[in-house]
Amino acid sequence: MAKVLRLFACMLSLALFLSLAPAGYSLAGAADEAACETAAFEPSPGAAQNGAPGAASGTSEKKLLPLHEINERVAEYGSMTIEGMKPEDYDASQSLVWTPLNTAGEPRPIDINLSEPMNFSVFEERMRNLDKYEGVEVSVIGKSAMGRNIYMVKVAPGGEEGKPIIMLSGNVHAREFAGADYLTKILNDTVRKSQTDPKTRSLLEKVVIVAVPLVNPDGREMIINGGNRNRKSNANGVDLNRAMPAANAGQLSKGVKRVKNFSTKPGLYFFAGYNLGSESETRAMIKWFDYYVPKAFVYIDLHQQGGSQYYNKPFSSAKSDSLSKDFAKRINLLLKKGYRLVSESKYFGLNGDGGTMTDYARSVAEGFRYSYAYGRLTLGIDGEETPLVVFKDIDDRMQYYNPANASFRAVTIEIGRSPSYLGAGSRARALRKREYKKYGWDGFLTGVIGNVLALQPQ
Ligand SMILES: [Zn+2]
Repeated sequence: MAKVLRLFACMLSLALFLSLAPAGYSLAGAADEAACETAAFEPSPGAAQNGAPGAASGTSEKKLLPLHEINERVAEYGSMTIEGMKPEDYDASQSLVWTPLNTAGEPRPIDINLSEPMNFSVFEERMRNLDKYEGVEVSVIGKSAMGRNIYMVKVAPGGEEGKPIIMLSGNVHAREFAGADYLTKILNDTVRKSQTDPKTRSLLEKVVIVAVPLVNPDGREMIINGGNRNRKSNANGVDLNRAMPAANAGQLSKGVKRVKNFSTKPGLYFFAGYNLGSESETRAMIKWFDYYVPKAFVYIDLHQQGGSQYYNKPFSSAKSDSLSKDFAKRINLLLKKGYRLVSESKYFGLNGDGGTMTDYARSVAEGFRYSYAYGRLTLGIDGEETPLVVFKDIDDRMQYYNPANASFRAVTIEIGRSPSYLGAGSRARALRKREYKKYGWDGFLTGVIGNVLALQPQ
């Protein structure tokens, strides 16, 4: 096994001989001569006559390996089912500029009634109003496929320095309205309350909250405008929660049957794109995660599939899973035991699935980095970019993990009790309003802050 890996690693290093090392990776040991002596591999004439690894630079060297080439390389371990994220798309994600709204004027105290509809223009008005509060900054972090703004709300009265960061997101899936509805109401109500309630104010001053309440504005708006109410995808028919170039995205371990929830063409759900990370929404989220995950305390993603929480990842360390599980338990208590813990591993893994927002966040936390050659997050082993499908086959793989954030937690909360809770309809809105009240979502943010502070090392 070790020998095979070394051969594989050697071939990979030769393939990448002149490629520019992604930030954080050292190519110093890439051309491991001892390993390469055993490899029956002829470098191309171009590679052979050039100088030291890393000498070349420029985007032309950032070359994505075609899927069939990757699959030849990983054939012993399994296969990739989706083309990787294109280097130009990854670079575009990294060069996105966040634009603060800087809205002028005094905030209006807004009462948000969850049984009333919230279309995109109402949502934008609420974002602009939030931005007017002191200590709140709303920024545009990217655009949707149809050009709608993707907003981040940052709540940090009294500054950010040294404070634990809480990441929140919602409505990645179009029909799962609770994400954007709940987060917008929670942020509005908590910030508003902090203006007159010293206890709430004091809690907000102890943390930094960064929230992307509406990740998939086009998909949501298509449903509001009468489109198919089962849509999870964005306007291009891409399921954003399959499209992230996470460590486990679209890979199939040898002998494992591909999950049924997988589509090879655009549609309402389960299509990861023709390439991973192809969507403008995924590019915005990649930059957001790359920036915040290495220093964040917790990330919570709000979905809607029936009163549960997911906390574990098949590729994560047991310690990292137990941190997330502990936080999920705390959320369950906070929300009146309305969201039971469900283990993800029996549903996901290297079965062609993966590529969710939490998969990506946890991948970054575990130290996986984007590889231009593979077009997805890989782990550096002795300076080699190693995709998870290979890596999973290595005994004692955890010794190779080099976490970017060893105390990171991520939890997915599934709101709703049945399909009737989904979408834009009046009954769904009434049901979601009832659930919000029944399980105490009004205290969600302050409760999460309280738990974060209790877990902070003193
Ligand atoms: Zn979902």
